[in-house]
Amino acid sequence: MSPETTLDKPTTPLFDPETFDRYVMKTYGRFPIALTKGKGCRVWDDRGREYLDFVAGIATCTLGHAHPTLVSAVTQQIQTLHHVSNLYYIPPQGDLAQWLVEHSCADRAFFCNSGAEANEGAIKLVRKYAHTVRNLENPVILTAKASFHGRTMATITATGQPKYQKNFSPLVPGFVYVPYNDIEALEATIAELDAEKPQVAAILLEALQGEGGVRPGDLDYFQRVRQLCDEKGILLVLDEVQVGVGRTGKLWGYENLGIEPDVFTCAKGLGGGIPIGALLCKSACDVLSPGEHASTFGGNPFACAVALAVCQTVERENLAENARDRGEQLRTGLQAIAADYPDLIAEVRGWGLINGLVLKEESSLSSIDIVKAAMELGLLLVPAGPKVVRFVPPLIVSESEIDRAIEMVREAIASVV
Ligand SMILES: *Cc1c(COP(=O)(O)O)cnc(C)c1O
Repeated sequence: MSPETTLDKPTTPLFDPETFDRYVMKTYGRFPIALTKGKGCRVWDDRGREYLDFVAGIATCTLGHAHPTLVSAVTQQIQTLHHVSNLYYIPPQGDLAQWLVEHSCADRAFFCNSGAEANEGAIKLVRKYAHTVRNLENPVILTAKASFHGRTMATITATGQPKYQKNFSPLVPGFVYVPYNDIEALEATIAELDAEKPQVAAILLEALQGEGGVRPGDLDYFQRVRQLCDEKGILLVLDEVQVGVGRTGKLWGYENLGIEPDVFTCAKGLGGGIPIGALLCKSACDVLSPGEHASTFGGNPFACAVALAVCQTVERENLAENARDRGEQLRTGLQAIAADYPDLIAEVRGWGLINGLVLKEESSLSSIDIVKAAMELGLLLVPAGPKVVRFVPPLIVSESEIDRAIEMVREAIASVV
């Protein structure tokens, strides 16, 4: 076999899904392909078939696959020191915290390993603040309907979607749901909950709802939420797990809304695919003391050094600007397709490189039909609910890759209508 053919021809025995399913719990509905290699915005399956990756591990592979900076940060740190413990000072953890603080509205950071874990930390911080600073007896956290905050018990409870909670009762007490982007409903809920004595400790929201259907936050709504929080001493917590680190065309999702949260979380894009999560807060609510919150793996030298390299690359290579420009190009292309299918497509919405092609409720097609058709043609996409097709490519995506993706979406839609 000549070396040029190694990308096209399988070099190892073909992957066997039956063996996989014999040993792995069936907690995921998986597409029937096995990805085994990636470079930039392209990935290959075990048969050597190439795909353009507009999923990026669900908004996670910020720098795409096998980016030289990522590879060198991983290699360098694993050869030096990969894990110790928070029993000791960890210099790369301090460096990453400093970068995040200097590039956001936050004053301090805590590191963990995932988005759900970061949100768990935020919930604990909010409750401690409510008890110790505001003397609330039974603190309540308001979250939005159609939100997504993770899969742990507290975060499925925070998630305002019954489908993630079904069969897992009893849920965690202390959460109340409000419709997203609806200021009157929020004011009414707070008035009701705080009628006898104050209970509302925090409002936890996504700047843009990702899993819930790529629904951007409304500027007026968030400004009003910020005002309400200031008036009442309520903490505003933003879940930036899916939108943080440049994806929206700004470094942080909240920058699109002209407000600053008291607390925010990030994870997905932060490590470029290496597991890491972060909880960030302003000094006024930095209330967790030694022994109250911890994580064995959280903030280890490996994850922090890699995340710092990802963040510095986003800054150095102007990837937030690229997200803004390529996102505009993508939405323009998708809008042209939408104009040709007025009975199928309701709208195209999003910020930067998190976008949704929204199908009409009454259409017989669902997002998964389009995702499957696109996959057949060599484009990876991911649904965000039954009627929204989500586009979250790596932030390094090029103009020609966006053009190719738009063409494949057009072909995919033509093949299913
Ligand atoms: C993915 C996601 C989470 C959960 O993150 P995990 O790393 O899977 O725990 C939480 N919030 C939002 C907004 C997300 O998109």
